[in-house]
Amino acid sequence: GDEVKEIELDCGGTKVKVNPGLFINGKFIASEGGKKFATIDPSNGKVIAEVYEASASDIDKAVDAAEAAFRGKWGSTSANNRGRLLQALSALLMKNRDEIARIEALDNGKTFAMASRVDIPGTADCFNYYGGWATKRHGKTLDLDKNTFAYTRHEPIGVCGCIIPWNFPLLMAAWKLGPLLACGNTAVLKSSEKTPLSALYLAKLIREAGFPPGTVNIVSGYGPTTGEAISSHMRIRKVAFTGSARTGRLIMKSAANSNLKKISLELGGKSPNIIFDDCNLGQALAYSIPGLLFNAGQVCAAGTRLFVQEGIYDKFVAAFTKSMKSMKLGNQWGRSTMQGPQVDKIQFDNILALIESGKKAGATVAVGGKRHGDQGYYIEPTLFTDVTDDMEIVKKEIFGPVGVVLKFKTEEEVIRRANDTEYGLAAAVFTTDVGKAIRVSNALEAGTVWVNQYAGGGIQCAFGGYKQSGIGRECGEYALELYTEVKQVIMNI
Ligand code: NAD
Repeated sequence: GDEVKEIELDCGGTKVKVNPGLFINGKFIASEGGKKFATIDPSNGKVIAEVYEASASDIDKAVDAAEAAFRGKWGSTSANNRGRLLQALSALLMKNRDEIARIEALDNGKTFAMASRVDIPGTADCFNYYGGWATKRHGKTLDLDKNTFAYTRHEPIGVCGCIIPWNFPLLMAAWKLGPLLACGNTAVLKSSEKTPLSALYLAKLIREAGFPPGTVNIVSGYGPTTGEAISSHMRIRKVAFTGSARTGRLIMKSAANSNLKKISLELGGKSPNIIFDDCNLGQALAYSIPGLLFNAGQVCAAGTRLFVQEGIYDKFVAAFTKSMKSMKLGNQWGRSTMQGPQVDKIQFDNILALIESGKKAGATVAVGGKRHGDQGYYIEPTLFTDVTDDMEIVKKEIFGPVGVVLKFKTEEEVIRRANDTEYGLAAAVFTTDVGKAIRVSNALEAGTVWVNQYAGGGIQCAFGGYKQSGIGRECGEYALELYTEVKQVIMNI
């Protein structure tokens, strides 16, 4: 059929065009029966646009296209050319940085300034980085005896399904598409129903960069319908997921009940941030505040459990709450805005309910504790003190601008309490004692440990979780393992 027409969005006074169709086989098409859904602006709850919603038969079409590209044009594209295409896509992102940052801000609620400074360059870096890897995947040769030797090949898996969340919509797409394409796979990617727009803009750039049709297919839709059609599909060989632990379980189940497709999961967290008496206090504060509040607290690796040693506790909490009070909330477009709204009403209500549970359990609200304003989904930066380790606000991932402070005495004690969680995504340690930094880092059950900083490392560093925070590692060289099969060839000459 014909390509769907682009629509024009008002992004804080600037008009940006995006195509609301399903991007399948290099074309934006309508869904089966023309079904659509609306996406909203969380700063005011108003509808931004309607996009097409993929049904199970639309997913079949996308898989057909991805399989044909894998067997055809993309499958015969050289490693050098795959790398070149990924780097061309990276350059296009930077060229269109302003427009795409506007779309991301409008749909997600994050500030335009942040999307432009963090999300878009981060996405471009990811495609650039994996473009470099396309030509650098080496196999091994083994001599067995005089007449036999063996070698390994790292072959692509085939059609990969990608299911991503809404907190960093574009970046999460890139973390999957970058390594998957570098390794020679094809993709069917579903964005989050809360933030479908930037992935559609990305689809336009993928076409412009010159990837063969069908190499990357991008669809919008809900989890239990479109997402389930991907995770249970018999011809999708792998599914890469980022989202909640609850959905991660459902995806594992669908994979097991269909074709036992390979899975990688990046799930939630409740990361400890450990501040020792002997830290550089200014440094600890400078990192711990964004460590908790960056992206309105909607970060899987956010430092939400602040363990502060008793000698520095009062000073740290006083300075921390003072900074939290100075956070300026506002919509996406204000130049001095530091925190935007939460992504939607569902998240907003969940966060407020968890704040209430903290109050009921007897914790003290040191700062914040309620919604901000009376329009849009804003929540005050909130910090609880006088908490105990068994409270819901200490155990559960809140995924909003809400932290808890816990006082501790000794190194052994804090290691035990920090590890007393089902999650294991990230952690941080602030101390000027190198020996302590290394001992504690080694003892923490977490996929990432930062010392004297919170967040940072970039696309080169492995990222993923221990325990219920996930399976597999994205980013760095490790992501290549997620998208390749190892073939061992044994030769008798
Ligand atoms: P979510 O699990 O509700 O949704 C994530 C994605 O899964 C969405 O695209 C959704 O449509 C889809 N989905 C939902 N139900 C599905 C089903 N039954 N089958 C297939 N797909 C389904 O999570 P969310 O609310 O979008 O994101 C927040 C969560 O993501 C938090 O727990 C957060 O910690 C986690 N997260 C983790 C990382 C990481 O790298 N570890 C990064 C960002 C977010």
